[in-house]
Amino acid sequence: MKRYSAFAIAKEARRHHKGWERAWRSAVAKPEYDVVIVGAGGHGLATAYYLAKNFGVTNVAVIEKGWLGGGNTGRNTTIIRSNYLQDESTAIYEKARGLYETLSQELNYNIMFSPRGVMMLAQTEHELRGFKRTAHANAIQGVKTELLTPQQVKKKVPIMEINGPRYPVLGALWQARGGTARHDAVAWGYARAASDMGVDIIQQTEVTGIDQSRGAVSGVQTSRGMIKCKKLAIVVAGHSGLLAEMAGFQLPIESVSLQAMVTEPVKPCLDVVVMANTVHGYMSQSDKGELVIGGGADGYNNYTQRGSFHHIEETVRALIETFPIISRLKMLRQWGGIVDMTGDRSPIIGKTPLEGCFINCGWGTGGFKSIPGSGWAMAETVANGSPGTLAEPFSLDRFAEGRFIDESVAAGVAH
Ligand SMILES: Cc1cc2nc3c(=O)[nH]c(=O)nc-3n(C[C@H](O)[C@H](O)[C@H](O)COP(=O)(O)OP(=O)(O)OC[C@H]3O[C@@H](n4cnc5c(N)ncnc54)[C@H](O)[C@@H]3O)c2cc1C
Repeated sequence: MKRYSAFAIAKEARRHHKGWERAWRSAVAKPEYDVVIVGAGGHGLATAYYLAKNFGVTNVAVIEKGWLGGGNTGRNTTIIRSNYLQDESTAIYEKARGLYETLSQELNYNIMFSPRGVMMLAQTEHELRGFKRTAHANAIQGVKTELLTPQQVKKKVPIMEINGPRYPVLGALWQARGGTARHDAVAWGYARAASDMGVDIIQQTEVTGIDQSRGAVSGVQTSRGMIKCKKLAIVVAGHSGLLAEMAGFQLPIESVSLQAMVTEPVKPCLDVVVMANTVHGYMSQSDKGELVIGGGADGYNNYTQRGSFHHIEETVRALIETFPIISRLKMLRQWGGIVDMTGDRSPIIGKTPLEGCFINCGWGTGGFKSIPGSGWAMAETVANGSPGTLAEPFSLDRFAEGRFIDESVAAGVAH
């Protein structure tokens, strides 16, 4: 793989950019692999990358029914933070956030990580108390967050109306090293680096069945034929329930559509990420100038990639209360992704009842931020056949044993 650099760009410019290679190989599936990963979203691709990099496991195929990064990874609002409440959560989200800091250099691919700061508004006394608790928990966990006063909020975000009308801003939880990254680039960067180490990425190929022999996985049926494998990793977010059914077990997952939208581009006016959980809306400004706005999840299970119309109205109405300045902007696009929600709003990483079959799902509305940490932990789980310290608390067993990792406050609207 040719390295990307300022020198390479200058060299290519001189020959009219005709010498660039494809970023990743377009592979044809081999009959058998050591590991098959289903799903070329960020989590599947990061798993492949860390399997190759950390464990030298390169006889790996990533099978994708559409195009890589075309699921939730390419549809999210790109918020990265690690200010969760429970120790287990903070450990994996902070691992991911830490990896994001140097991911562009590591992958030799500009993922546009922008640690511009994430602000979670407290607009009720209850919320303020909750955020004080989280700030204390984060201090003990070694994650740097702080509580801001309304005046500090206004100073950081002058376009915000902090005095109401329904819910005045009472404070905010602030993580200065939180921020955003370009979602497609995260998938593309991992794909390019994994492909370079020998991983086959096979797009436009749907997994339609899972083969077993004597209680262990032996391969997958796909829309282009059968592929044998020694280990199988299911990393398909909103489609996890369907794949689990093929493998013969059930998951405590509900699939719903979550939506987002962007406005027309405007001059820079917002240089942090703001989340308003009480009124239900959050916003940041992209490098192109569009305001990226996150809406709510549908209140019923579905596999549409659109989201209900009433959420658009509710989200925009909520944000206009806090940011009256945006009221006359035109909305450019709206879309949805199918998110995989667990009851405790924490992910599932680990073994399944089928020997040799592992699963990584349940990131729900907030799994973009965790891609590097999740890939790291999943690779460790698949390579060793059992989870390491990061993944261990998130096993599927916890639902049978009642060991919930309740992040319903940290992960509600707050993506
Ligand atoms: C609107 C929206 C906003 C969000 N905002 C944020 C945010 O700001 N911050 C944050 O941290 N998270 C956010 N998220 C959540 C985040 O996007 C997801 O948690 C994360 O992208 C999940 O990544 P993944 O790799 O697990 O899944 P995906 O990216 O969905 O990848 C799964 C892949 O599996 C493929 N697949 C499914 N079935 C099969 C099959 N049978 N055979 C082969 N391939 C198959 C799919 O085509 C898909 O490409 C948001 C999500 C949405 C929808």
